[in-house]
Amino acid sequence: MTKESPTPIELSFFERDQHDRTRRWLGANNLETIQQSTVLMVGAGAVGNEVCKNLGLLGVGKIILVDPDKVAASNLNRCIFFRPGDHEAKFKVEAVAERLPELATNTVVEPHAATIQQAPDSVWDTQLVLVGVDNHYARYLLNAKNFSFNPPHPLINGAMGKDFVSVEVLAPPHTACLVCSWSKDFVDHVVANEVRTRCDPFFVDTVPRFPMISFVTSVVGAVMAWEAVRVLVGLKQWRETGQWQDGLEPALGRFIKYDLNRHQAASGQIMVNPRCSETFCRDKRKHK
Ligand SMILES: [Zn+2]
Repeated sequence: MTKESPTPIELSFFERDQHDRTRRWLGANNLETIQQSTVLMVGAGAVGNEVCKNLGLLGVGKIILVDPDKVAASNLNRCIFFRPGDHEAKFKVEAVAERLPELATNTVVEPHAATIQQAPDSVWDTQLVLVGVDNHYARYLLNAKNFSFNPPHPLINGAMGKDFVSVEVLAPPHTACLVCSWSKDFVDHVVANEVRTRCDPFFVDTVPRFPMISFVTSVVGAVMAWEAVRVLVGLKQWRETGQWQDGLEPALGRFIKYDLNRHQAASGQIMVNPRCSETFCRDKRKHK
């Protein structure tokens, strides 16, 4: 009598599924929610590249991408979707829209080569706004625009210095808005500076080029994507019940800072400013 060998487990069954590991990590229902989600990513530079890569690999359904700039060779040290031949030939949003689907087969990228103030209102047809811009004026304008929606969209803002990254997770009027922590003087400066740089080309040419490398933007892109996941999987339930998914609560109303020199992370509440420079912020809070 021959001894029957047990049927070998068909490992390759799981290996053929691009989303197998994500499904195990997030759960099938959450993966499905992610795959049906739409996000607005403002900024297609280094932070935008990283966030798009992370959310694309997760299988996010649609990324609406807004950025007015063309690729420059100097971007190539930190942007996974740009190539040397793109220099001044391709808009940043075009490069990401063309190459992200090579990795992210579930993700549609809708590119808009425009500033957020020039982009059509349809870009705001989203569940979440991710901000990866290099100037406070754009933050100021998109924060104000976000208040025209009822309710305003949750908003995740990424920023960095030479050796730190910072992420803010906001859902005004339940939390502070993007400019609650800005003083009136700072807001005036941001607006005045924009006028000055637009009117005088000298300032455009002499704006310092910020030093940056890929692993700093990787850290900020990772924190933003992780917070985006928790917002997206729990948003519907939170709107209905005020509760996030157990174990997947986003850092709502908080900042997350990571110091790359000291390897120190910090997180804390962003205070709501009752005298916020943004009129809509004060107004919506009164009526929430
Ligand atoms: Zn505010």
